[in-house]
Amino acid sequence: MAADPVLTRDVRVSGHGTAQTPGARVVQVQKSLMAHNDAVAAANREAFARCLVLNLVSSPGSGKTALLERTLSELAGDLRVAVVVGDLETDNDALRIHAAGAPSVQIVTGTVCHLEAEMVARAADDLDLDSLDVLVIENVGNLVCPAAWDLGEDLRITLLSVTEGEDKPLKYPRIFKDAHAVVINKIDIAEAVGFERERALESVRQVAPAAEVFELSARTGEGMAAWLGYLRARLDAKRA
Ligand code: MG
Ligand code: ZN
Repeated sequence: MAADPVLTRDVRVSGHGTAQTPGARVVQVQKSLMAHNDAVAAANREAFARCLVLNLVSSPGSGKTALLERTLSELAGDLRVAVVVGDLETDNDALRIHAAGAPSVQIVTGTVCHLEAEMVARAADDLDLDSLDVLVIENVGNLVCPAAWDLGEDLRITLLSVTEGEDKPLKYPRIFKDAHAVVINKIDIAEAVGFERERALESVRQVAPAAEVFELSARTGEGMAAWLGYLRARLDAKRA
């Protein structure tokens, strides 16, 4: 007997969150939320005139905080970097960043699974923006809705680790499509976990043909030089 075909139901609705059929009011509220977010993001972008701002997004456990720790320690004494960290709970990541020697502000979002421009604006109030070269926003670990919320960043960096499926960019196209750069992390364990490099690169190219791709290990430091060179070049370009 033939296997049952896979039943796929498309329950997409516009906007963030639920799969309910949206009433007109729901759509209206969503639209005005996004309009408000975009306005605050534009104001953030003006406030961030002097520093390069990154919005770092990935699934939970891809190594965002580890990449930041390594990036901070390698740039220390050279560029002034601060970090805004978003998490559902705990300030563990901000403490790790602080231990790595950078000013950090934790945003605890509670039930909100992404950062919004307003949260970043409030966190940035605690930082001396004019003294910074780079501000990194570590978004909540989530590949879905952070894609919809502009924070006022210059660069969206999407991180993928070799322990995730090679087809992740195809499954979460929006967050990869809008990325300026894609970082493939944990390459030191690629062989052990059977990571198919060519297939992953092809997925990235398919969804985000213009994105710069960096393959590195935040743990061993392999590949970090190209990533750091990219950040320096983008900072110089912004200030030129
Ligand atoms: Mg983290
Ligand atoms: Zn969300």
